[in-house]
Amino acid sequence: MTIKLGLMGAMDEEIALLLGAMEEKKAVVVGGVTFTEGQLHGLTVVVCRSGVGKVNAAVTTQILVDRFQVSAIIFTGVAGAVDPQLNIGDIVISSSCQQHDMDVTALGFERGVIPYQAVSDFLTDAQLMKLAKDACSRVCHNHNYIIGKVLSGDQFIADHSVVSRLYEEMGGACVEMEGAALAQVSYLNDIPYVVLRSMSDKADGSAHVNFAEFTVEASRRSYEIVNDMLVHWNSTVEQA
Ligand code: SAH
Repeated sequence: MTIKLGLMGAMDEEIALLLGAMEEKKAVVVGGVTFTEGQLHGLTVVVCRSGVGKVNAAVTTQILVDRFQVSAIIFTGVAGAVDPQLNIGDIVISSSCQQHDMDVTALGFERGVIPYQAVSDFLTDAQLMKLAKDACSRVCHNHNYIIGKVLSGDQFIADHSVVSRLYEEMGGACVEMEGAALAQVSYLNDIPYVVLRSMSDKADGSAHVNFAEFTVEASRRSYEIVNDMLVHWNSTVEQA
């Protein structure tokens, strides 16, 4: 079976460099999202921009599975730092993803737990995590990288007290708006995934000042990691 990889970002900046590097591109619009299939470092890839938020990410992931039959999905993008050791530009490789705004605490469920469902914290594939970690060790010279839990919700977090809660109560490394949706749909379809996020802001009151300034730079860093993962794909990941 030929490997086909889904490469997803939420915003134009996050996929621009991937689109620029691809060859033999062919674009098709499904569900309002443009999917560009082509070649990158000898691999067949499908690059798409889901749009912001969990619903967009979930729909886009399901289309990648149904229409493009991808065998794995990598998300590349930016996020707000939650773990206090992270600085702007640092990288988080997902160990798992969970929705921080899934809140059925009124009925006695812990925050982030999806009622009546076996899994709410969706684990990243171990091989993809290792490939991402090895890529970071080669590419990230001036920035730190950690493996940690990615928290997702339909809110741009710009409040230090929320950051503290996400860190202490939910053990998050960073916060964004798509990862857990992609992870949940991947889990339901038994597709391996990893989320890579470069910190664009500290999810505090200065986010609006930092955001645009750091997004382009952070997206470039995230792209470099994905690029390196693809270069080393065949020697690391078992062909299915
Ligand atoms: N492009 C818009 C903002 C997009 S929303 C603008 O010009 O203002 C933020 C995007 O970046 C989402 O895709 C989300 O996944 C990520 N993100 C970065 N920092 C975040 C934060 N502090 N809280 C939530 N999402 C964040």
